[in-house]
Amino acid sequence: MSLRRCVVAAFMLTTPVWAGAQADISSQYLWQPVRIGGGGWVVGMVIHPLDSTVRYARTDVGSAYRWNNPTNTWIPMRVSNADGSGVQLASETDAPSSYGEDSVAVDPTNTSIVYMVFPSEHSTDIQAPTNCVEIYKSVDGGKNFTPGNMSAAAILGNPNGPKRMDGEKLAVDPGNPAVLYYGSDGQGLWRSLDDGVTWKQFPLSGFTGPPANVEFVNIQFAKGRGTVTVNGYLDRDWTGVGISPRFDFIIIHESGHEWFGNSITALDHADMWIHEGWTTYLESLYVEYRWGKADAIKYLSGYRPKVINMRAIVAERGVNADPTQDQYFKCALMLNTLRSVVNNDTKWWTLLHSFYQRYKYQNIQTEDVVSYFNQNTGINLTPIFNQYLHHPAIPRLELLFGEAPGMVLYKWAADEDDFAMPVRVGTPDHWEIIRPTTKWQSMQSPLRKDDFQVATDLYYVDVNKQ
Ligand SMILES: [Zn+2]
Repeated sequence: MSLRRCVVAAFMLTTPVWAGAQADISSQYLWQPVRIGGGGWVVGMVIHPLDSTVRYARTDVGSAYRWNNPTNTWIPMRVSNADGSGVQLASETDAPSSYGEDSVAVDPTNTSIVYMVFPSEHSTDIQAPTNCVEIYKSVDGGKNFTPGNMSAAAILGNPNGPKRMDGEKLAVDPGNPAVLYYGSDGQGLWRSLDDGVTWKQFPLSGFTGPPANVEFVNIQFAKGRGTVTVNGYLDRDWTGVGISPRFDFIIIHESGHEWFGNSITALDHADMWIHEGWTTYLESLYVEYRWGKADAIKYLSGYRPKVINMRAIVAERGVNADPTQDQYFKCALMLNTLRSVVNNDTKWWTLLHSFYQRYKYQNIQTEDVVSYFNQNTGINLTPIFNQYLHHPAIPRLELLFGEAPGMVLYKWAADEDDFAMPVRVGTPDHWEIIRPTTKWQSMQSPLRKDDFQVATDLYYVDVNKQ
């Protein structure tokens, strides 16, 4: 079992795979394909905080690229260009751009300075790095690079490894750009005080295990005393509904992992929603604690557009599979739905506290969560958990109007044959709880089709009115 550490200190170490996401503003842009002209999967993109036209993209098996704004093209940074600029390692004569980049970082105070980290060769093991990484610095926006001396520290890196999409591992201290941090795969956190020339392992605050137990660290600078914010989230409306700017959600999220992630730990990566879904849900409880339930529900509703619903959340066991990103937002919405199913907040808080007490300091699986809630609610919640965790689609409430005056027919459309879940319908000032199953039932309602609502902010479900 690998251990994912998140440490809150003067800076944040974190693993937000969705770190770049914001509200969908795609309709405000004209989208056109851009020729890259290289191989590999683009697994990271860095945009300079002072100038959004200064952009870098890195790939897992190919080159890294700098954006040429006047010509709207990406220019490879790893291969020597015709004018002799660019980086080329002596060992790369036959495949000059085939090793991928472990990380790219800009100096947040200077638009001309960019760093790249990459290994001397492909790792022979896709899961584990087998080659040392080296760092290169450019002071002319990625046209020319000079090497530092990271390889002397014998830090292993694997740009094509399973963590390649989890964000940047290299960061420049915005308060002192000579200071760089590098989060390695399996060898802890490293720091350079001299522009990346020399590197020393940097102790992780509060972490007493060997560095090899630190699987991966992604570095973000958060707001803090005397620290300039670069990648903190406070100034950004993360969920797009006006709640996020009140607090720096990433600090709350990563702190939440002390409970779900570090104390209660999934036995297999396949069940990582036990970390991420619960912790994302805890964000909403923080909002509720500070500003009330209405704002918490609103905050959670901002997560709906982030759910993709393309794959089941619980991934294949025993193969170190990382679950889909839906483990965050969809699971938070599922837990909020579960609260509505329990429909008794006092009971819900007791359930959460006792769930934590029951499983703290243990490795558990999805089945443990389900059986705990089944036993302690007295409700068979297995079909509900199964639908949200083992199927891409969420339950859809089918509503049929006009069969007879004042009558509404209802049922769930779900992949689980015995799916059954109560849900509130009617109007917000007069909700009525109905108990649909996958078989048609009927109810009387004076409401017309257009006025008949479903409390979709309390239950993460689709609705189909006919
Ligand atoms: Zn997390």
